[in-house]
Amino acid sequence: MDTTGIRFIDELKLKGKTVFIRCDFNVPLDGESNITDDARIQAALPTIQIAIKKGAKVILASHLGRPKGTVKPELSLAPVGNRLSELLDMEVILPADVMDEHTDKLLEDIKPDKQLMLLENLRFHPGEKKNDPEFAARLASFADIYINDAFGTAHRAHASTYGMVRHFEHKAKVKAGGLLIRAELEQLGALLARPERPFIAVMGGAKVSDKLEVLNSLIDRVQGILVGGAMAYTFLKAQGYGVGSSMVEMDLLDEANIILQKASNRHVAIHLPVDHVVVSNFNDESGEVTDGVNIPDGTLGLDIGPKTRTAYANVLDGAATVFWNGPMGVFERKAFAEGTFAVARAIAGSNARSVVGGGDSASAVRAAGLLDAITHVSTGGGASLEFVEGRTLPGIEALRANHPFDMD
Ligand code: ADP
Ligand code: MG
Repeated sequence: MDTTGIRFIDELKLKGKTVFIRCDFNVPLDGESNITDDARIQAALPTIQIAIKKGAKVILASHLGRPKGTVKPELSLAPVGNRLSELLDMEVILPADVMDEHTDKLLEDIKPDKQLMLLENLRFHPGEKKNDPEFAARLASFADIYINDAFGTAHRAHASTYGMVRHFEHKAKVKAGGLLIRAELEQLGALLARPERPFIAVMGGAKVSDKLEVLNSLIDRVQGILVGGAMAYTFLKAQGYGVGSSMVEMDLLDEANIILQKASNRHVAIHLPVDHVVVSNFNDESGEVTDGVNIPDGTLGLDIGPKTRTAYANVLDGAATVFWNGPMGVFERKAFAEGTFAVARAIAGSNARSVVGGGDSASAVRAAGLLDAITHVSTGGGASLEFVEGRTLPGIEALRANHPFDMD
């Protein structure tokens, strides 16, 4: 995606301005609301720090989880505020309610050199997801300058990613992208514009239905696709192989064959697993390797087998560009993580420009200890997939000069 007509935060004068930064602080929490992975907070720091350094009064906003338009204390951004305070060594003021007049007073009193404001979970208000104009206007009322750095939510036309942005194209009000959004656009954009060949996609995860569109659009652009995860079984079943009681989307068998046919017409190799790690019950602690491609009745597949790992690693070794979305197996459990880790190692060890999209895939790369060996690990799950499909993202389009604001 080109960045024509989009300004970025490092081009702006911010001294004495109030800057609203839409971040993606949608971090995973455990049962006691502790942050289990702060990667998204870390990824937002450069933009926040540049705003502080330039002398702005900073107001941060994000959603967290799915509170469905009501206040859910367990989805408060308070843990994020605490983590930000540690990382930035500043006081983080978290007003209870965005709509409350008291919030304006708190903002007025912020001392930009040692304090910043974090708004409470935007999805506590139904107006956020509905892109309600009044809620959007309220958010816009706080600031002189709007920055979007929330790539993970850029595919949504919500109040904070889309509706409020229209208020920042008049007079002194300015809109711009953050540094994270720019990095994502550059790295993911390189996959769409003249990717070096061979371009190999690795697709896995739980469901074909989540990935149909991206599969269809990748076939037009890649030279090969390696399929793993539960989604492989739908393809194998469609091809008439035994899949035992593995996870299969029966309503997608025809679709799977259409994709395979389309790939074959375009001379794109779709690689399916040739062996598997299977168990008798989903909760079994260890599995067995099948003799071949068929999965015996009474068993189900939870990972790709060793022959498949070697075959996939060989393809990846010769790749110049790699896009990976979706783990090869139930990598959260040690006994079924090897296929995913083998693919991660093969990508890390190749000379390819490599981009990983998807929340679970990013966790898998992290668990394998290979984050630094990947060219770019996207912070966006759904957003990175929509981007790779070649779709426009409302949160990005809104940042362009003279955007018509007709996507809501
Ligand atoms: P991402 O978040 O990277 O887009 P997905 O959400 O599509 O990935 O898929 C990740 C999930 O798929 C993981 O929780 C993993 O356990 C699951 N999964 C992978 N392989 C299998 C399998 N063979 N059977 C059941 N679940 C699987
Ligand atoms: Mg996922």
